[in-house]
Amino acid sequence: MIPYGRQSIDEEDILAVTQVLRSDWLTTGPKVEEFEQAFAQYVGTKEAVAVSSGTAALHTAMYALGIRPGDEVIVPAMTFAATANCVMFQGGTPIFAGVHPETLLIDPEQVESKINSRTRAVIAVDYAGHPADYDRLRTITDKNGIALVADACHSLGARYKDRNAGTLADLNVFSFHPVKHITTGEGGMITTDHSKFAGRMRLFRNHGITTDHYQREATGTWYYEVVDLGFNYRITDIQCALGLSQLKKMPDFLTKRRQIVARYDKLFANSQNLRPIKPKENVSHAFHLYVIAIEFDAIGKTREQVFKLLRQSGIGVNVHYIPVHLHPYYQKVLGTAPGDCPTAEMMYKKILSLPIHPKMTEAQVDEVAEKMLRVIDQ
Ligand SMILES: *Cc1c(COP(=O)(O)O)cnc(C)c1O
Repeated sequence: MIPYGRQSIDEEDILAVTQVLRSDWLTTGPKVEEFEQAFAQYVGTKEAVAVSSGTAALHTAMYALGIRPGDEVIVPAMTFAATANCVMFQGGTPIFAGVHPETLLIDPEQVESKINSRTRAVIAVDYAGHPADYDRLRTITDKNGIALVADACHSLGARYKDRNAGTLADLNVFSFHPVKHITTGEGGMITTDHSKFAGRMRLFRNHGITTDHYQREATGTWYYEVVDLGFNYRITDIQCALGLSQLKKMPDFLTKRRQIVARYDKLFANSQNLRPIKPKENVSHAFHLYVIAIEFDAIGKTREQVFKLLRQSGIGVNVHYIPVHLHPYYQKVLGTAPGDCPTAEMMYKKILSLPIHPKMTEAQVDEVAEKMLRVIDQ
């Protein structure tokens, strides 16, 4: 099976991890700060705060903003559930906004129409690796005095009008799950230029305690204070060593992803029934996903049939995403329903994600495209 995404690990990564295993600090040690600083430098922010997953990073961001019961946070319907779940973790209410049918990015007009006196923030998702329209979103959030958060879990290495993903919102969230651009096994990061937010987030990831073990060891004290209710969202030095090693390979990883996209685009150029989701001119896309839209009515096959045929022939296609407001939990708890976000629901019925990851060979790309075309054009 050619998977839709997977990690690219080499001997250098393995060596970096084994060196930490032989060292004194497996967690809360020097590698955490080293990874944070290298990551902040890579994206171009003052601060980066590392945590145990992308989901923990989203939750930590919601805590930093002080989201609490009664607060509303606007999120796109077309995303992974964690983008909305993080609002619920803090007792807030996610409000689902529709997406643009061409990019599947949150629609700024929809955002504006959903703002009221309870709205505290907007979380934009850089779907597939394409930065959302941050200039328009910023105008709207500034006008209303609310925060802008980027769920940039897909867009490490992307650019928007010559600005890097990770610098485009007040708080920017990344994931290091194995299918993402770089991996730490599980892991996440929040980048920001606001030192005050960074301080709050470091507190939250460590039980709400003012200092961590490493700092106490360094200053020779046992005393600490729990000043707020936090979690154990710490990431280990083992993971951060892997992250540091992976980060060095970002230029290669991006080049490889873009080469795969160029090859797919060429192979699909003449298909009537298949349309790759194309980037806008003013962005440099990071291509976490390669998403195509298919007119299933026109080809006389359902998505389920196409999906099964491809999986049976060894192609690990996937669907990103089931609109979050359609999940039973949200229908039950928030009373969301089909029809709430028509464009997201319409596009959900058409999309498929094809395999893309740096270790894919040209022959594999050709095989995916050939099988894809055979299934839908026959
Ligand atoms: C992967 C992902 C997350 C969650 O990250 P984890 O590290 O798996 O917790 C959140 N949002 C989006 C859009 C993602 O793709």
